[in-house]
Amino acid sequence: MTKIPHVVILGGGFGGLSAANELRNSLSSSQIKITVIDKKDWFMVGFAKLWIINGTRTFENSIGSLNELQKKEIDFIKDEIMTINLENKNIETKSQNISFDFLIISMGAILAPQKISGLEENGFNLYDHNQLSEIHDRLGNMKSGKIAIVIMGMPYKCPPAPFEASLLIDSMLRKLGVRDSIQIDFYSPAPTTLPAAGTEVSKQILEIISSEKIIFHNLSKIKSVEHKKLIFENSEADFDLLLAVPPHIAPKVIYDSGLAKEPGFIPIDRDCKTPFENVFAVGDVTNLVVTENMAVPKAGIFAEGEGITVARNIISKIQSKEESILFDGKGGCFIESGRNTASVIEVDMFSNPQPSTNITEATADNLSKKLEFEKERLSKWL
Ligand SMILES: Cc1cc2nc3c(=O)[nH]c(=O)nc-3n(C[C@H](O)[C@H](O)[C@H](O)COP(=O)(O)OP(=O)(O)OC[C@H]3O[C@@H](n4cnc5c(N)ncnc54)[C@H](O)[C@@H]3O)c2cc1C
Repeated sequence: MTKIPHVVILGGGFGGLSAANELRNSLSSSQIKITVIDKKDWFMVGFAKLWIINGTRTFENSIGSLNELQKKEIDFIKDEIMTINLENKNIETKSQNISFDFLIISMGAILAPQKISGLEENGFNLYDHNQLSEIHDRLGNMKSGKIAIVIMGMPYKCPPAPFEASLLIDSMLRKLGVRDSIQIDFYSPAPTTLPAAGTEVSKQILEIISSEKIIFHNLSKIKSVEHKKLIFENSEADFDLLLAVPPHIAPKVIYDSGLAKEPGFIPIDRDCKTPFENVFAVGDVTNLVVTENMAVPKAGIFAEGEGITVARNIISKIQSKEESILFDGKGGCFIESGRNTASVIEVDMFSNPQPSTNITEATADNLSKKLEFEKERLSKWL
């Protein structure tokens, strides 16, 4: 009897779940064994975090359980991944050893607020699911003062998300009748709002936030945070409520395995291969260079596309077919206006002669599509 190939997937986020489902939809459990390992047993579409902040969602109503994977004969292990042994094809978690024939590393990016002195004591982490309810309460209790939204490192997940956060917070404060007495400042180390999306889209994002009186401060590279004070390389600013997007790094186990150099991510090409045979990496844990100054942004839609690419290539290999596909680099990100509409930033990272981006008009239909995007993923993956 031939051995059933074992695909182990590290991380049950966008990349891991898209790959696991693509594999299972094509190959039965007698043809392939699939195991997903994650330290948490739930999945959430990233943008739902902003709805918890504006109070239109709860955490409990925004997650899907990874335990549902068992129904599709995809094994799920809730455990922390401690070691990746690439030579002898083995994963060590806190409680067990798991060997693999194929490995898909989709462990995402880790938020590292500790890298900015004073941040954890004096500000909130806009992306940390544990802090969202408290951010909501603080915003709800604010009557006047200054809110600072600060990008503290590049690259970070979903480049438009902090801008969307500023628009949703603006809308929440407007509804509470306090917006006129609260200033919203947005600080970024970049020269423009969305450098990866190009000059034109950046200009339009700037126009959108400026029209809501959100003040954009470019080239503001954070050094440290003190009580109610931001220390930038070339200036200082004060705030009453700080919402930070902290620097992002790869999980420690990735640096320990030698797959990436701290503080960077796993270098891949459009085939998502690592230097190790049958070991692939997808999503936020990777760095896929597009041009000298540009990499594929950290976004769920790209992690998903890479996960599907890798799964299809593994399927071909298992079926002894020669063909292999490359990640197409196409995707779109929604950006809500805070006025019951949304725009879509459409991206084609590998179009010739250069990446192309475009922002659509803000419509109610796009907002419905955003809700559908979340619903579809939760229902088809879990
Ligand atoms: C506020 C916000 C809004 C966003 N909006 C959008 C959007 O509109 N569109 C979009 O495309 N993207 C959006 N994103 C980005 C998107 O969520 C991420 O890019 C996406 O989740 C990346 O997928 P991934 O599979 O690479 O990593 P993740 O989804 O982060 O999954 C990685 C998994 O690995 C697990 N893991 C890590 N280390 C270990 C370990 N040592 N042991 C066990 N498990 C481990 C983690 O628990 C996690 O579940 C948004 C993100 C945020 C924060």
